[in-house]
Amino acid sequence: RLLSLFQFPFGRRLPCDIYWHGVSFHDNDIFSGQVNKFPGMTEMVRKITLSRAVRTMQDLFPLEYNFYPRSWILPEEFPLFVDEVRMMKDSDPSWKPTFIVKPDGGCQGDGIYLIKDPSDIRLTGSIQSRPAVVQEYICKPLLVDKLKFDIRLYVLLKSLEPLEIYIAKDGLSRFCTEPYQEPTLKNLHQVFMHLTNYSLNIHSGNFIHSDNVNTGSKRTFSSILCRLSSRGADVKKLWSDIISLVIKTIIALTPELKVYYQADIPAGKPGPTCFQILGFDILLMKNLKPMLLEVNANPSMRIEHEQELSPGVFENVPSPVDEEVKVAVIRDTLRLVDPQKNKR
Ligand code: ADP
Repeated sequence: RLLSLFQFPFGRRLPCDIYWHGVSFHDNDIFSGQVNKFPGMTEMVRKITLSRAVRTMQDLFPLEYNFYPRSWILPEEFPLFVDEVRMMKDSDPSWKPTFIVKPDGGCQGDGIYLIKDPSDIRLTGSIQSRPAVVQEYICKPLLVDKLKFDIRLYVLLKSLEPLEIYIAKDGLSRFCTEPYQEPTLKNLHQVFMHLTNYSLNIHSGNFIHSDNVNTGSKRTFSSILCRLSSRGADVKKLWSDIISLVIKTIIALTPELKVYYQADIPAGKPGPTCFQILGFDILLMKNLKPMLLEVNANPSMRIEHEQELSPGVFENVPSPVDEEVKVAVIRDTLRLVDPQKNKR
């Protein structure tokens, strides 16, 4: 079936079946059709709000929600952080933790740093006023080719009520560009070793753009699964753990999302329905347990990357790995929300 696509950079002039907003839900004059963003999603997945929402569930169901690192909200929970770490160290003197500090609202590794002791938090000056999350650093990630990597999975939240969630079968694996070592005071500052962000590692001389989806600094998640499976790993169990991580995370966000939804789209009044593609960032531990790092409400759908042709001269070139994964995500999303199909 043919799809008519219109771009409205200066405001919409036509009623549509599907409204594809670039950043977040904002229009209050849509009365029918579907919008690709939920009201309040951007707020709900910010580092502090996500942490709080998951913590509420961790307090109620500690075993079910053990896929999120222990976290504290700064600056308000700084004293609690200091106390709890001291208590845990007292009860287990062999515990030598590392923590990662992430500014709220930051992205692409911006402002992130590792510390060994709560007293290393940069609480002075302007940074103090900047809210942040500090969390236990996962010291033993699964390595492939001696490198740390994380997984970006694409999840379609098709409806809140009833809850309908789809997880794309393939995602991306984003690799560090320095061989991993467990954190020590000496290597704590080496971002290319500890942070998997594409936006950081792209600036390392070691970043490998590859046409082959099975090698390089960005690969398909399915290629990692193949590797793991050939090493004898239980890939089925891994998938089912990932699926429950995704579902439980969305369940943690649902109560507040419904409040936002009712405020913007009150029941009984004509309004659109919503769906949204979320980017889940997941880290696998050495024992293959998936841990949630963060959720992105506006994951990049770029299928090109910049290449430096000569010093200072950049060109956009196709990125086959991004294309393979992201085109399928958009295609399947459009199929799932297809208004004609829903009528049938
Ligand atoms: P950003 O939004 O800036 O990308 P993230 O929470 O995704 O922030 O963290 C950036 C990177 O830091 C992640 O991609 C991951 O490589 C690393 N990281 C984040 N949290 C942890 C953690 N608790 N343990 C180990 N590594 C982490």
